[in-house]
Amino acid sequence: MIGGVDFCTVPSDNEFMFALTSPLADIKGVGPTLAKRLAKLNLTTVADLLDHYPSRYEDFSRFARIAELKVGERVTLRGKIQLITSRRAWRRKLSITEALVGDGTGTIKAVWFNQPYLAQTIKPGNEVLLAGMLTSTSYGLQLEHPTIEPIEQGGLHTGRLVPIYPATSQLTQRFLRALVARALPLTKNITDWLPLEVRKPAQLPTLNTAINTLHFPPSREQLQAARRRVAFDELFLIHLKSIQAKRTLHKKQALTIPFSEDTKRLVAALPWALTNDQRQAAWEILKDLGKDQPMFRLLQGDVGSGKTVVAGIACFNCVQAGYQAALLAPTEILAVQHFRTLSQLLAPWPITLALLTQGQHRLNGETGEVSAATIKRKLAQGEVHMIIGTHALLEKSTAFQSLGLVVVDEQHRFGVGHRQTLISGHRPTPHLLSMTATPIPRSLALTLFGELDVSVLHHLPPGRQPVATRLIAPAEREQAYELMRQEVGKGNRVFIVCPLIEESDTLGVRAATAEHERLGREVFPHLKLGLLHGKLPAREKAHIMEDFTRGATPILVSTSVVEVGVDVPEATVMAIEGAERFGVAQLHQFRGRVGRSERPSTCLLMTESAKPKGLERLQALVKYSNGFELAEFDLRTRGPGDLLGETQSGFLRLRFAELANAELLKTVRQAGETLSKLDATLARWPALKAKISQETFHPE
Ligand code: ADP
Ligand code: MG
Repeated sequence: MIGGVDFCTVPSDNEFMFALTSPLADIKGVGPTLAKRLAKLNLTTVADLLDHYPSRYEDFSRFARIAELKVGERVTLRGKIQLITSRRAWRRKLSITEALVGDGTGTIKAVWFNQPYLAQTIKPGNEVLLAGMLTSTSYGLQLEHPTIEPIEQGGLHTGRLVPIYPATSQLTQRFLRALVARALPLTKNITDWLPLEVRKPAQLPTLNTAINTLHFPPSREQLQAARRRVAFDELFLIHLKSIQAKRTLHKKQALTIPFSEDTKRLVAALPWALTNDQRQAAWEILKDLGKDQPMFRLLQGDVGSGKTVVAGIACFNCVQAGYQAALLAPTEILAVQHFRTLSQLLAPWPITLALLTQGQHRLNGETGEVSAATIKRKLAQGEVHMIIGTHALLEKSTAFQSLGLVVVDEQHRFGVGHRQTLISGHRPTPHLLSMTATPIPRSLALTLFGELDVSVLHHLPPGRQPVATRLIAPAEREQAYELMRQEVGKGNRVFIVCPLIEESDTLGVRAATAEHERLGREVFPHLKLGLLHGKLPAREKAHIMEDFTRGATPILVSTSVVEVGVDVPEATVMAIEGAERFGVAQLHQFRGRVGRSERPSTCLLMTESAKPKGLERLQALVKYSNGFELAEFDLRTRGPGDLLGETQSGFLRLRFAELANAELLKTVRQAGETLSKLDATLARWPALKAKISQETFHPE
């Protein structure tokens, strides 16, 4: 909110009364209610607050005199209140506060709605700063909803580049600004972890300066420099981290997994030929497995490019060598699917596969449930050769006899901690294959992950048709439903994804349940509809997916649980309700659930919104069919520092770095080289080392 919402400033106090690590709740003026609201934004300590950067700035840095005011210009003016009154407009339930402000060159009227207390806090004779835009109304020229602050406290909300913080969750901008302003002096205590040997030649400001500038930029130029610094930091830390990770890994001993002739047979028996990309990737992986150093490889391929079978080949080769393989999936639905796919693929071979999730424990070849304890025992004794599961695989009690290979599917869904748990604690260190659909632009990959091995599936399997993507406005709904009926008539399947509607309904269960009921009653009374959401018991989820796959319920209404990985080749329609509520990356993942066979498919982005920004995003999906182009669009259009909402579920979790910035990428690379030459172990810069170890981004 930019208007003069409240006149509150947090009471000033001795700056040394709190430290960077102090809880915000301990600060005078931040009561339990405000602390709770801050916590909603993940802001619990002073340091968190300082790290919460504005997403944009309102430029009120230009001061003007009343006589020079022009309609439509954003300015700040200094003046004296001559008159201020508040009244009720009785017909509309509205209170109107009006003030007359003069500055010697003239007077101007300022108007606020529903802020009657302004007339109580501001009195005639007060000298104030007013920031706003002169508008021409039927009542004449006036400033509508200008931000106002007393001249003696001035400089936070007016007369400058005014910070606007993202998603404030019931906190006013004024409150946040005032709180940040009180915390900023503590930046004095922050040590800059970036070595001078890097900072100087790269012409970067100190961390301290950068933080202060980002919150309250003295000028556009300084803001630019501050942003460059934090963007640099982001990329540089990832760069160093990946170099270090590789170095550590290279010191470790791994099991040497020889190439098995049976693997050739497995490939020859596939129902289709591998694409050249799959062949190449599998070959690179198998070569890595043959080394006595652990593999550290990323398999990157757009949704539907066929990563699973490549992982399957690697696991098979590992098992043939007498070692165990584990495949970690982010959702239960996906784990079950992988278990099925791989059980089928490996059916001709005497291999025991297990499925282990919170709710499901199974072995291939046995129809019923097996206890988790049985699976774990068999795993520890080496009787289970390959295990597929979710987080349950990470439990301490899940022990292996000789784990040779870990595959992590949809790696961006896991934290580094998770992956570490799976590979650490095993001697020798297992080989690691991570799979992702996140497209990483090449220039970035070279700089950041130059040390990481990447295999790429550039093309989809042959015969795939691009998914036709359409925006569906409310008036076109009936047409969309008709298309779904036709597709079902042809023996195909339809996904209908519902968004979260209320915040309290965190898993969207209610939205999906209601929509399922409505569609069944009003739209598809003669068709069978399944309902899938995360709250259902595991067994039921599996049945529902099975009914859908078989075609018993050709329409599946679901929450976003089907976002990643789900593979039902007969599905030809993906309809996404409230599409504008999802991020580009998520929408692309949803769309990837169709177009998985030679049948033509459609993705319907159903929206009721007319917000241009949202529509621009949806239009991008219509325009670009591959993830790479979408990722570039995503990076181009989102503002730097736009760190909440869409971006967090976006393609790359970078807050500031703009990847199109070749100059910055080059600077990062050079800085890396500089440090390597001086001291490759980085021991010379303990603060930097500490910072890298805190870095949570992990490339693999
Ligand atoms: P993703 O890369 O998204 O994980 P999947 O591994 O789920 O993709 O594969 C998508 C679909 O393509 C699956 O139905 C799979 O059986 C099929 N598939 C994989 N490789 C090929 C191929 N070489 N030719 C034809 N179909 C393939
Ligand atoms: Mg997949």
